[in-house]
Amino acid sequence: MDKDCSNIWNQACKQLKGILSGDIYDRWIAVIQCLDISGSTMRLAVANDFYKDWLEENYFPMIRKAVMVVSGKEMDISLEVDSSCFDVVKEEREPESHSPISLPTLTLGNKKPSHNLNPNYTFDSYVVGPANQFAHAAAMAAANSPSRTYNPLFIYGGVGLGKTHLMQAIGNHISHKKPRSKICYITCETFTNEYIDALQNNNVSNFRKKYRKIDMLMIDDIQFLDGKQRLQEEFFHTFNTLFESHKQIVLTSDRTPSEMAGLAPRLISRFEWGLVTELGKPDVETRSAILRKKAELLNLNIGNDLLDYLAERVSSNVRSLEGALIRVATFMSLTNQKVDVQKVEELLHDLLDKESKAAISVDIIQRTVAEHFDLRPADLTGKKRTKDIAWPRQIAMHLSRTMTPQSFPVIGEQFCRNHATILYAHEQVTTKAQDDRGLQQTIAILKDKVNKNAAKVMSS
Ligand code: ADP
Ligand code: MG
Repeated sequence: MDKDCSNIWNQACKQLKGILSGDIYDRWIAVIQCLDISGSTMRLAVANDFYKDWLEENYFPMIRKAVMVVSGKEMDISLEVDSSCFDVVKEEREPESHSPISLPTLTLGNKKPSHNLNPNYTFDSYVVGPANQFAHAAAMAAANSPSRTYNPLFIYGGVGLGKTHLMQAIGNHISHKKPRSKICYITCETFTNEYIDALQNNNVSNFRKKYRKIDMLMIDDIQFLDGKQRLQEEFFHTFNTLFESHKQIVLTSDRTPSEMAGLAPRLISRFEWGLVTELGKPDVETRSAILRKKAELLNLNIGNDLLDYLAERVSSNVRSLEGALIRVATFMSLTNQKVDVQKVEELLHDLLDKESKAAISVDIIQRTVAEHFDLRPADLTGKKRTKDIAWPRQIAMHLSRTMTPQSFPVIGEQFCRNHATILYAHEQVTTKAQDDRGLQQTIAILKDKVNKNAAKVMSS
């Protein structure tokens, strides 16, 4: 690392140390390594994807600001994963006698673990609810009797819903019970890169050996294989070798095997040999339970009413929920202030906005508008053209366009109309509202009602 770079980074760290609590600083900032500065880009590195994701989601603006204050100019900051950071970090950190929280405390023993698992992703720290109980039970079964229950175990679901956590929980469980077993956790992207490197360096036989002699293979985000034929071919053989020697295979993906349009049929069928199980969005009770668990693990002093409020408002995925909690906790530790609902709304303004937008659907708008004008939702999608129905219908179309991210054709389908009708209604209402105060008020009232109804749906 050049001197300039280390100077700027050390100074920035001092700034950050001043604003973050000691625990948060040690956990998240002290583990970052500065690689170099070239032009106006500063390259930082951390030991694994977990740190990278977490830092990017929660501390990036703060880091950028600190670097700007120190260097006197805006800098682009890139965060890379460099597993060699692991050793450096270990040497620099004082061993702790105990770690009460379930965040990525680095392994404290002298031996670097071979499997690359985050020790905090365990079954213990995983909250079970109706949307994930089946996947959880399957994961437990695979962890307790690898390759004898579901092989492969294929877990799919949306972003931030706990796929990586659940998969690594299996690995951690097995590695705890049988420390000698050779467990490999890898993201499909890294797997791909290793394969490409092997091809370039004429080293494919080593690559094969490495992946075909392990006891359990976990590949995260396997949808990355979609459309990559050569890699699929390679993976097909690895899969067969492991499967035939009764080794457990666990895969995660954001979609089902058959939804991967560019996946070879023989791989689709293999992925479906074992169990394909979905992780859904947790309901509000599960979200509350997750927050309570995280707050407890993080030693945060946040009242249950506030946690419940967050659980109600943030429903899109667990990662955002955690992000919200961390932001509130960071604010509390920075200012030493207690926060209330009003403060939380202020702090999380952008996130809460995004959340409620995501929950607004054309269906909610139709129901709200129908109720307001004393009609049935079916009137809005029906054929009648009397003025008392046609006008509310146009307003509902206009609101659908402005309050949801849907396109004209998609909205059209939901009103049993074509896209031109929706476009026309949208323009009509927009023009009329320009100088009709009554209509402006009606629209404002309706928007408010839609937001409230969406919030109700979110918390149910
Ligand atoms: P995915 O891989 O599906 O994108 P992750 O496994 O990375 O999601 O989960 C995102 C975050 O949410 C992680 O910090 C994880 O610990 C947490 N999380 C998700 N589901 C649960 C759960 N049921 N209980 C506790 N934490 C959870
Ligand atoms: Mg993941």
